Amino acid sequence: MKFCNLCGSDLAQRVPAGDNRPRHQCTECNEIHYQNPKMVVGTLVSDDQGRVLLCRRAIEPRHGYWTLPAGYMENGETTLQGALRETWEEAEANVSTPALYQIFNVPRINQVYFIYRATLDGAFGCGEESLECQLFHQHEIPWDELAFSTVYHCLKRWFQHPNDHQVQERTIDYPARASS
Ligand SMILES: [Zn+2]
Repeated sequence: MKFCNLCGSDLAQRVPAGDNRPRHQCTECNEIHYQNPKMVVGTLVSDDQGRVLLCRRAIEPRHGYWTLPAGYMENGETTLQGALRETWEEAEANVSTPALYQIFNVPRINQVYFIYRATLDGAFGCGEESLECQLFHQHEIPWDELAFSTVYHCLKRWFQHPNDHQVQERTIDYPARASS
C-alpha cells in the first residue's frame, strides 16, 4: 500500500496515537488505512456415497491443483453465504444442511478459513475458476495434488473421523502444498 485511497497522497508507516503497532497513515489527510486478516470461506461437500467434491483450480495460485470450493469472503455477506456462493461459483453445486466444520487460522499469511460441511443437492458442474470438478472416494483423493495444506487437513479429518462433526479450530503454519 503506497497511496491514500481517499486523497491520493503518500502513505507513511506510523504508530497512531493510542495504537501499539505501525499502520499505513496518510501524510496529508491523516487517514489510517488498517490492514486486517482476510476470511476464506468454503465447503466440504459430500454425497450419499461418501464422496467429496473437489475442484481443480483454473487460476493462480496453485493452478491445476485440487481444492475444496472456497474463496475470499465478500463485503455484505455472512461466512455461510460466502461459502455457498463460492461453492456455486467454482462447482455450480447447490448443497443442503450446511454446518460450520473447521476453522483454520493461518497467521503467517493473515488468513482465517471457515469451512462448512454440507450435502450435495442434485447435480454439479464446473465454474469458471475450475478446470474440472469431481467427486472422490477416500482412496481416489489426489493427495499429492492438493492445492493447500488446509485442504489436506480438512480431508484427512473428514475421512479419518467421519462421525466427528464438531467445529474444530486449528492453526496452520503455512498453507503450502502438503504431501501425504
Ligand atoms: Zn489521504
